[in-house]
Amino acid sequence: MAKTLVYVAHDNLNRNKGALAGARPETHAIVFVESQRMLKGARWNRQRLFFLLSAARHFAEELKAEGFEVMYLKSNDTSSGIQSISKDYDEVISVEPSSYRLTKSLADIGVRFVPNDFFLTPRALFAQWSKSQKSLKMENFYRWQRQRLGILVSNGEPFGGRWNYDDENREPPPKTDYQWPNYTNHERDLIDHEVIAELKNLNLTGSIEETIWGTTRKTALAQLNKFLRESFAEFGPYEDAMTVKSWALHHSLLSPYLNIGLLTPDEILKFVLKKFEEGNIPLSSCEGFIRQIIGWREYINGLYWYFGEDYRDSNFFNSNNPLLPLFENSKSTKMKCVSDTISGVERRGWVHHIPRLMILSNLAALCDVAPTELLIWMRNNFIDATDWVMVPNVIGMSMHADGGRMSTKPYIAGGSYISRMSDYCGDCVYNPKTRIEGDSCPFTTLYWHYLYRNRDLFKKNHRMFQQLNGMKKLKDLEETISRGDQVIKGLLAGEI
Ligand SMILES: Cc1cc2nc3c(=O)[nH]c(=O)nc-3n(C[C@H](O)[C@H](O)[C@H](O)COP(=O)(O)OP(=O)(O)OC[C@H]3O[C@@H](n4cnc5c(N)ncnc54)[C@H](O)[C@@H]3O)c2cc1C
Ligand code: SF4
Repeated sequence: MAKTLVYVAHDNLNRNKGALAGARPETHAIVFVESQRMLKGARWNRQRLFFLLSAARHFAEELKAEGFEVMYLKSNDTSSGIQSISKDYDEVISVEPSSYRLTKSLADIGVRFVPNDFFLTPRALFAQWSKSQKSLKMENFYRWQRQRLGILVSNGEPFGGRWNYDDENREPPPKTDYQWPNYTNHERDLIDHEVIAELKNLNLTGSIEETIWGTTRKTALAQLNKFLRESFAEFGPYEDAMTVKSWALHHSLLSPYLNIGLLTPDEILKFVLKKFEEGNIPLSSCEGFIRQIIGWREYINGLYWYFGEDYRDSNFFNSNNPLLPLFENSKSTKMKCVSDTISGVERRGWVHHIPRLMILSNLAALCDVAPTELLIWMRNNFIDATDWVMVPNVIGMSMHADGGRMSTKPYIAGGSYISRMSDYCGDCVYNPKTRIEGDSCPFTTLYWHYLYRNRDLFKKNHRMFQQLNGMKKLKDLEETISRGDQVIKGLLAGEI
């Protein structure tokens, strides 16, 4: 009897999940496809492509060692790769893919899908929750998750008396000496070096010198343990802070591993709750971290499927500017916070949530950049990027391009927010406090420019009243708008 062929996508690298969960070497063969589209379809960040390819090749070797027949094909595209061998098998199965595009191309060639259990919330359940809500607030989803999953709750009430410790988790970076953790360097093995050599001739961005990303489950587990030992306790207070003294602060650095299946949210929860029960972890840090895993991550995935395929094209503000040249070269701008953030992306394919939201996306939104331009750049450059996570984060949360279907108000800020939450501004040629001087911080000027040019669209948004009122009171509004025009021009020309 012919075997069943299991197609393993590059983000399904887990023996106990999806289509591999019930697979046995006697009855199943396995195929991976490294497509030309994946290699050459975009100008990827080198760290990102290296990580995806090397992790998949390592995982393929582990499956071979278990006795499976494993084919690691190189092909023009995924479908033609699978089709080149599928006639020799009973059927082809795969876990439900994580993007609309792959779902369609696999469905078109008759692949049978197994429910996606890489998340805690089935898509249908999320849709059911959404339909029962007046607005899709993350906070309400999160509380529902806590109760549904029985995490930090007793008798339906939150452990410690509060659902949310966000107000304790917004500290700026410490001003005094503070010991940030060291980050692990993962020694590269033969497979890693083989991939690096193959990538040499491709037209990619970024550099591969930093060795902070491991490419096996063992290294992913090591990162999880390191986080629990050295950062979990202080994760909460500095969650939103940015500092030149530490590129990751106490963030877990787990998203790349989670997003390709080397770690799963259920096992992370188990380890995190066990560590919390052992003591010495403040509730605010534990709650803050749990919120990311069962709240934000699941919410974003749920929305990707709930909002549908066309959501990515939303453009509420009708923004049409191209991406600013500084996104392609960290050295080309004098804006300290931007240069430092882009440099982090070039070196590691990663910066934490606040630089993504309040520096990169904020700048793009303030400059009226077309949302899809930012989406493509982020997808090409971040190590943890996949379609399901990038689309709602960029189109909804960051650019407010969905007109508020996801967040009731846009995440935009002037230089004073960045100045409060970081230590960048002291070393910058610009002044975060002023808006119309020659050296005024571009963020500060553009914040008012954004409010002014979108004032009619915000008219009915009561959460924007205060900001719009503030704008109306500016005595130098005209000069601010005129300087804003110049700043956008300068940024688009790559001169700022
Ligand atoms: C514009 C923008 C783009 C983003 N793009 C991605 C992306 O491509 N891939 C990605 O995994 N995350 C993305 N995020 C969310 C978040 O920035 C990253 O998950 C986080 O920085 C990863 O680092 P960490 O593992 O150290 O996270 P931690 O701060 O330690 O948080 C723990 C985990 O929570 C989850 N999480 C927290 N917030 C989110 C969120 N908004 N969406 C999904 N998961 C979340 C992640 O799995 C993360 O590993 C984006 C956020 C913004 C604003
Ligand atoms: S002054 Fe403005 S541009 Fe400079 S670091 Fe501060 S926020 Fe960034």
